Amino acid sequence: MHQPQTDLPQRLLTPGPTAVPPRVLEELAQPIIHHRTKQFREIFSDLSQQLQQILGTQGPVLSIAGSGTTAFEAAQVCLARPTSQVITIASGKFGERWQDVYDRYAEAMALEQVRINVPWGEPVPLAQVAQALCEHPRASVVTVVHSETSTATVNDVRSIADLTRRSDALLIVDGITSVGALACEMDVWGIDCLVTGSQKAMMLPPGLGFVGLGKQALYRLDQIDYALPVYNLDLRKWVASYQKADVPFTPPVPLVRAAKVACNMILEQGLDAVWQQTRRRAEGTRAALRAMGLRLISSHPSDSLTGAYYPDGVDDSIRHRLRKKHGIHLAGGQDGRGGCWKGKIFRISHMGYVDIEDTRAALLALESELREAGAIGSQTRALPAFDDVGG
Ligand SMILES: *Cc1c(COP(=O)(O)O)cnc(C)c1O
Repeated sequence: MHQPQTDLPQRLLTPGPTAVPPRVLEELAQPIIHHRTKQFREIFSDLSQQLQQILGTQGPVLSIAGSGTTAFEAAQVCLARPTSQVITIASGKFGERWQDVYDRYAEAMALEQVRINVPWGEPVPLAQVAQALCEHPRASVVTVVHSETSTATVNDVRSIADLTRRSDALLIVDGITSVGALACEMDVWGIDCLVTGSQKAMMLPPGLGFVGLGKQALYRLDQIDYALPVYNLDLRKWVASYQKADVPFTPPVPLVRAAKVACNMILEQGLDAVWQQTRRRAEGTRAALRAMGLRLISSHPSDSLTGAYYPDGVDDSIRHRLRKKHGIHLAGGQDGRGGCWKGKIFRISHMGYVDIEDTRAALLALESELREAGAIGSQTRALPAFDDVGG
């Protein structure tokens, strides 16, 4: 990593990519092995079993080279039935992206998209999902983002799964910032397809997408008797290889090895403990930001990350100062159809390899910069609020 002149410890608290533990980094430096070998198949098979535990499924969890978007697009294309309707829920930038993806395939697959767009910062109301399912009984797919990273908002995926279970539609969930951070239990909740990526809560560098497939999703793939408009992203190829502990195309071997180490760390700590730790960081951070007088961006915050509006007189240049003076890396806001948050908000991650001291350091630095900008009073002390719930 590029070191600034000051040599400050760098704390990467952006909600993806996130920091990678040393054990995982060391594994990445191992010599390359060939992937058509018993050695690789053993690693791959161990990883697949760990991923099943982390996603909470008995079904296959495919490891696909690419980013989270690659994996989600594959699920979208392969699971939608041609000439059907697809119900797409967007409550932020990523939900909107999945709408854009279906726009691209709409003609080739004769899809009609039924969009549910929610104002940014709000979760999707269940009644709207129920109504869409009722009005479109032939819908083949529902897509939803569990933890909408752009708005730091969590959707009630468990209840949405209860609704889709009673319909013919398969539920595809973007769990890219929920799996490994929040409870998200594929089989118990009845999620048909759960997608995540390596660089958020999984403590890995970018480069792998994971696709969990439930029984109904596998059945849907089996039923395909038409030409899919994709090749590399044809999940049937990945499932066929998976059954032989293999992958159809050359995998990013170092990442696969590292993924096994990272998943092992998550399972050693225990999923419940990981979720609880993430929640405490989030609750503490929300308390600290409120103590600073900041307004959160979400009415229904996700525990994976926290976002807040900048107070009057403060703009995005504060992130530059946090980086330069304190080595603290936060994310800013994004623009989309349901909101224009560029330059207006900041976001801080609680996912994965975040030490409590990282969070404290970020809050202290933020408080100090806000004070310097005259945006909070000299009496403000955010850390006691954090330690009450976060420590
Ligand atoms: C980061 C993110 C994505 C996109 O993942 P890429 O790996 O950048 O393609 C999608 N959805 C959510 C919720 C995310 O946080």
